Amino acid sequence: MSMPRFSYLAPRSLKEACALLAEHGDKARLMAGGTDLLIRMSQRAMSPDYLIGLRNVSGLDRVEFDAGTGLAIGAMAPLSAVAEFEPVRRYYPALARSAGMTATVQIRNMGTVVGNLCNAAPSADNASPLLVHDAEVRIVHPGGERTLPLAEFFRGPGLTALEKGEIVREVRVSPPGQRTGSSYQKLSARSKVDIAAVGAAALVRLDEEGNCASVRIALGAVAPVPLRARAAEKILAGQRPTDELLARTSARAAEESSPITDIRASGPYRRLMVEVLTARALREALDLASALQAGCEI
Ligand SMILES: Cc1cc2nc3c(=O)[nH]c(=O)nc-3n(C[C@H](O)[C@H](O)[C@H](O)COP(=O)(O)OP(=O)(O)OC[C@H]3O[C@@H](n4cnc5c(N)ncnc54)[C@H](O)[C@@H]3O)c2cc1C
Repeated sequence: MSMPRFSYLAPRSLKEACALLAEHGDKARLMAGGTDLLIRMSQRAMSPDYLIGLRNVSGLDRVEFDAGTGLAIGAMAPLSAVAEFEPVRRYYPALARSAGMTATVQIRNMGTVVGNLCNAAPSADNASPLLVHDAEVRIVHPGGERTLPLAEFFRGPGLTALEKGEIVREVRVSPPGQRTGSSYQKLSARSKVDIAAVGAAALVRLDEEGNCASVRIALGAVAPVPLRARAAEKILAGQRPTDELLARTSARAAEESSPITDIRASGPYRRLMVEVLTARALREALDLASALQAGCEI
């Protein structure tokens, strides 16, 4: 299929990009890596007159970690850079896993974590890991800047909380807690290359006695938006993690999901798999947290 005709605009600053968005309104789309956008355009699912590329805006490709302030992922940081960044692998393992198993090598070198979030697919691999790591989104607009918890960013399939003229500048994640482990588990028909039929992320922080001081669970591809399984989290929070409690928590997470049947999997199968993947993610997160508690190097 041929591409619709469009003009490519290459602003050199976010201010300029905001001004172009304001000038062209609904006729313009922002482009990061283009791996979602250009496919949709080639399928004629959208045909903007202007693409505003962010590639020439300096500093947007940064991936930085500071023990005091945490992780910053710029709007143009490719998935591969995030997956390979040593502090991400060490302190945010769920995110390292999701970024490293999104699509193929070529797409990971082009596509960005921020584009993955802004595309707002319920199946976006990097959404649930960033939800359990309690990420926030920094947004610029012509009048200034605002910050939004990622949990409030997703509004529906393909829909975000971004207002007209707004651009995501970066995603921020707090510094890792002590004795904290996280994990992301993905089920897809064709192993890594395919969109997730189910995704489950978990984060567990243990206290000094080995109880779960903090528990976060997030699910992908099983509801209109990537969602926190908050009722399930409450079952385990403050408790010593036993097999029985892990099983109850995972079963509750499945109840919180509302999966549909589509080409990738049936709704009932997805719901069963939420339970399985949540249990695996919790177990792996706990193992990592326990190893850190025991003073092991990860
Ligand atoms: C073959 C193939 C396999 C794939 N496999 C997977 C997979 O396994 N898992 C998965 O999750 N995804 C997958 N994808 C989807 C895609 O690669 C990812 O969603 C990617 O991370 C998108 O990033 P991008 O930078 O290319 O976004 P773009 O395509 O550039 O943008 C996506 C959307 O976000 C908007 N946008 C981008 N940046 C900003 C910003 N800074 N502020 C506001 N809006 C912005 C754009 O306007 C557009 O609407 C696959 C795609 C293909 C083609």
